[in-house]
Amino acid sequence: MSKKLVLFDVDHTLLDAGNSHKDAFVKAFKEVLNLDFDYSGWKFGGFTDLQIIHELMDRNNIERDPRKISRIIEVMVDEFKRENLEHAYLLEGAIEILKKLKTEKDVIIGLVTGNIEEIAYTKLKHLNIDEYFVLGGFGHKSTIRSELIRMAIYEAEKKIGKIEESDVFIIGDTINDIKAARDAGVKVIAVATGMFGFEELNEKNPDYLFTDLKNTDKVIDVIKNE
Ligand SMILES: [Mg+2]
Repeated sequence: MSKKLVLFDVDHTLLDAGNSHKDAFVKAFKEVLNLDFDYSGWKFGGFTDLQIIHELMDRNNIERDPRKISRIIEVMVDEFKRENLEHAYLLEGAIEILKKLKTEKDVIIGLVTGNIEEIAYTKLKHLNIDEYFVLGGFGHKSTIRSELIRMAIYEAEKKIGKIEESDVFIIGDTINDIKAARDAGVKVIAVATGMFGFEELNEKNPDYLFTDLKNTDKVIDVIKNE
């Protein structure tokens, strides 16, 4: 079997961290820009954190000053680390699929998440799954999710050499995960464990679609035998 690279989204694919991440946005915008906003009607599922920061600045007619953006990211990380994450939990099947994939010697596991890297790892550490990941593409680095996929592939290739796009799998819960995978020319396994229902995801024609990660063996079959 050729080497396969499996790249997991974090929120609503592996875990649910409640509103902690949104709270970090609110606190950072207040501290850095003295701007109040609430996240009712939050429509940013599958956006990268940098993209969300840009959107929120644009909506409030705030110039995208790079120094302010850097500061917002710093404050978000600080604030997030202060969260107790008492409402965070792993989604069903997440730990099982990670454990099984780890035993596959031709599979390398990484992340592609809209999260700022330190926030992603804070969530993963809190739920004791950080050790499964050795690389990733993270949401403070680009507003374009497909670029995060390319960054993760680049990191993986530094470790194990050339990886064909057809051997790369994105696992994610939003239509943005599907679109990003398409744009990057890689495969996508969608899971209906987030804000998008099974039918809604199906309309976007993911390569594979599951209601959740509970049917671990089927998901692993797809990865190994495709
Ligand atoms: Mg997600």
